Parts: sequence; C-alpha cells; structure tokens
Amino acid sequence: MSVQQFDVVIVGAGFAGMYLLHRLRPLGISARVVEAGTDVGGTWYWNRYPGARVDIESMQYSYQFDEALQQEWRWTEKYAPQPELLKYARHVADRFDLRRDIQFETRIASAVYDARAQRWALTAEDGSAFDAQFVVMATGCLSKPNWPHIDGIGSFAGQIYHTAMWPRETVDFTGQRVAVIGTGSSGIQSIPVIAEKAKQLTVFQRTANYAIPAHNCPLDKDYEEWVKGHYAEFRAQAKQTPPGIYGRFRVGKALEATPEERQAEYEERWKAGGLAFMGAYGDLMLSKEANDTAAEFVRSKIREIVDDPATAESLCPKNIIGGKRLCVDTNYYATYNKPHVRLVDVRDKPIEAITPTGVRAHGEDFEVDALVFATGFDAMTGALTAVDIRGKEDASLRERWADGPISYLGLAMADFPNLFTVTGPGSPSVFTNMIPTIEQHVDWITDCLAWMQDRNYTAIEAEHDAERAWWEHHQEVATVGIKTTTDSWYLGANVHGKARVFMPYYGGFPDYCRKCEEVVADGYAGFAFG
Ligand code: NAP
Repeated sequence: MSVQQFDVVIVGAGFAGMYLLHRLRPLGISARVVEAGTDVGGTWYWNRYPGARVDIESMQYSYQFDEALQQEWRWTEKYAPQPELLKYARHVADRFDLRRDIQFETRIASAVYDARAQRWALTAEDGSAFDAQFVVMATGCLSKPNWPHIDGIGSFAGQIYHTAMWPRETVDFTGQRVAVIGTGSSGIQSIPVIAEKAKQLTVFQRTANYAIPAHNCPLDKDYEEWVKGHYAEFRAQAKQTPPGIYGRFRVGKALEATPEERQAEYEERWKAGGLAFMGAYGDLMLSKEANDTAAEFVRSKIREIVDDPATAESLCPKNIIGGKRLCVDTNYYATYNKPHVRLVDVRDKPIEAITPTGVRAHGEDFEVDALVFATGFDAMTGALTAVDIRGKEDASLRERWADGPISYLGLAMADFPNLFTVTGPGSPSVFTNMIPTIEQHVDWITDCLAWMQDRNYTAIEAEHDAERAWWEHHQEVATVGIKTTTDSWYLGANVHGKARVFMPYYGGFPDYCRKCEEVVADGYAGFAFG
C-alpha cells in the first residue's frame, strides 16, 4: 500500500476531529481524518445502546462555531437521544462537506516520529500508511471499552454486548432473559429500556450510583426560540461557569442553610432534574458534611420510589454524591418495582464467574439469553495508549504513562513533538460540556498551527518544565475538596491494574481557558519551536 502524505493526520471523526478538519481547510493545511467506524459521530456512533442520550441539555450540547448551523438545527427533546445526536453529527459532516477528507474503517495502530524529518509515520491495522507533519489525537475521553476481569468471560454461549460497542442492527430483547453488569450512566440509562422488553432482567450492581431524574420531554418551543434569540449571550455566560454549562450555580454553603431551606432547594432541583442538582450549594464537593445533606436527600428519594425496602437500601449509594459522575435517568429506580426485574448486589460478594449459560454470583447460577456489559471505559488514556505512539528517541507514550499520564494542558506532551491531543488528561474535558470544550481546544490548536505557519516553524514540542508545572498544579487542584475520595474512572480506579492518577483538570473551564490564553499571549510559553 502506498503511503499517503498530509500536513495533519487527525485520528477520530467525532466532534473534535470533524471540527478540526473544518478549521484547517481555510489555512490551506492538507488534513486527513482517519476513523475506525463506518461513519462520523464518535461517542454517538459507538454508544447506541437502548436509552442512550446526552446528559446535558440539547440546546447546549452542540457546536457554536457557525451561527447558521446553531440556528437551523432543531433538537426534538430536552435531552437528545443517541439517534438524533448521530443525525446531528452526520448533518454537520454533510453541511461542511467533511466526508471527502475522512477515511473510515481504518484503525490507527501505531504512530512513530522521525525527528530528522520532523514527521510522523502512522500505520493502521489494515496496513494503510500515512506520513504527516502533525498528528492530532481526537480520540475522545471515553472511547476504549472496559471489559471486567471475571472468570469465564469468554465462555458465555448466548448473546454478549458491551454498551460502548453496541451493534448497528437493532437488538430485540423481547421475551429474553437478560443480565446487565454495571450501574454507571450507561447501565442506568439502558436498564429501564431493556426492562420494557425483556422477560426477565437481572442487574448486577457493584457500586450503587446517584441518579437525578432527567424529566426528559419534547423540547419547549418557546425555550428554543429564546435560546436561539440569545445564543451568543447564552454561550458566553456558560463559558463563565466552572463546567462551561449555562445554569444556576449557587456559591452559598449547604451547612449555612437551615434544614428547611436545604430541603426546599434540593426539592426544586430534583423537580428541575439533571446535573444542575449539584449546583445547589458551593460546598457540596468541599465538605463531606455538606455533601451528606445532598446525598441523604437523594437516598430519601430512592426509598420513596422503590417499593421493596431491601432493594431500596441496596440502591442507596454509600459514597459521596458527585465523587463518581452523577447520572441522569429516566425511570431508573422505579424499574426495580417491576416484578421481572431483580437487583443482585455484588459489592461484598463479587460475581464468581461467567458461565456458558449466564452469571454465577452468591452461589447461584443466573441463566440468561443475553449478557450486557455496562462496564464503562478505560477513560482518558485508553484510546491514546491503545495506539503505539513513539516520540523522540523512540519514547513510548504507553511506557511514559505506565504510572499515570502527564501532559501540558491536556494538549501536548514533552518528547512527542508535533503531536496534539484534544481533551487529553490534564484538560477539564469530562467536567465540562464537551462540545464547547472541544471547540476551545481545536481553536487553540488551529491558531497555534497558523502562528507556526506565519513564522515558518516546522516543529513544536511541550517543554518538560512546563508540562511538570501544569501537572503539579492540576494534581494540587484535584486534592481540593473531596472529589478524589471516591474510586472512579477519573482516577483510573475502574480498570484492572491501571495507575491511580486523577486525570481531568478540576480547576474549571474559565481558569483553564485563561491559562491557555496566557500561554498564547506569552508567545506559546512552555513550548519549544523548531
Ligand atoms: P462507568 O460509570 O465506569 O460504570 C461502569 C459500571 O460497571 C460501574 O457500575 C462498575 O462498578 C461496574 N463494573 C465494572 N466492573 C465490574 C465487575 N467486575 N463486576 C460488577 N460491576 C462492575 O461506565 P459508564 O456507565 O459507561 O459511564 C462512563 C461515563 O461515560 C459516565 O460516567 C459519563 O461520563 C459517560 N456517559 C455519559 C452518558 C450521557 O451523557 N448520558 C451516558 C453514558 C455514559 P464500580 O462502580 O464498582 O466500578
């Protein structure tokens, strides 16, 4: 196969890869997006499990780089379902004629830097080869599926699914006995929908999770009109909040409010639904005592909703609220009132084995026709280390990050010149509204490439000192408050053998953007150019 040459190879055709391709075109930079799937959409291409939908309101979860695009696109629901999100990604690809520069069904296996030529050689699993001056890994934070280590996992003779690799053809569970392993966001969204069809559903829960009702509904036309009439202002205000989300964030302290005031505040937010629940007070993630007030409120709701007291108690999370990613649900807890749905708590007694006929736990054999793994992702680093990336002097990213990742602003790594990551570890990424954050990263990378073009620079590399200083700051910020006291995928705790290092930047979107702007104003401080 001949080697294809480009100025930039972008890995991944999700929202990051698509927007970067669009931004590079006017600069006259030749770019090729290489994508493992058969279509654009990234997360929303792969995660097509029943019930999949975004947990940020649709009116905010969209691109803002093109006014006509944000005016013309119409979401149908408050929280868009996966098929509509995929339709949106496809619409963007068609509208901006992106497909002609995307190579689908090609999974990059390695990327090797030639320091003399200042170019990267990329090889795909199918043997396709690319030669590029720059590589941008637009591979997403949650894209490498995590399969748990359970004995006999390969022995199951029925249908086996992972929420993050859901088949493109419709899966019909009608009349089947189904088991779901995992109760994170993917499990919590899919369980009620699977229960509607399955004859019998058994859910294996290791850690109970907090879910706030979505109260999803058709998108209110007046609200849509209002947002569209004020989009610039709406987006600008969102950028000023720590998660980059327009909403009501209170700075007051839960512990300074009376129990009645707290109850009223939580009740109002429960009724409004969604992730904004955690915006009730500014100290919820700073003090365990404050956090307990919100956690206990949600536990009381679970006890109210779930009829069987023992099941309700199992469903009540014991850890802090917001330590793991908060879930947004539709009918999750109420699903356990259905007579054909059973919860099996495997916290103290883990699943013993997967057998040819089902799951063995608590000494019991649960025979099922289909097994759904809702067991999440090797988050933040998994999709990057899945590629054998080798920088200067054959430095391996996989080895460099064996004890945890390190990166400058989640954008670039020392010893890996001309390589950028979009929402890499050290970026606020998953703590924010992903699409606007992706736009910020992509704009930063594009402006940097244009700046280099103007000065005839051919190579850029993060400096070790700058990388270390950012990482130290990032780790310091992570330890403020109680966020890191819970095992979570933010810490890599969900993946067998993975180093425990807090990965997303917790300092908030505004501070992160400020730092990126300062770096630019200072002539790309912390980067060396060649
Ligand atoms: P997750 O949050 O990591 O949940 C995985 C679940 O599998 C956890 O309950 C975990 O238990 C369980 N598990 C793993 N290994 C197990 C084992 N051996 N035995 C029993 N249980 C096991 O993954 P996810 O639900 O896919 O969600 C990941 C993230 O993706 C979310 O936090 C969110 O950021 C994003 N997401 C977003 C949406 C949305 O926008 N609506 C939807 C889905 C996902 P432990 O907790 O004990 O490890």
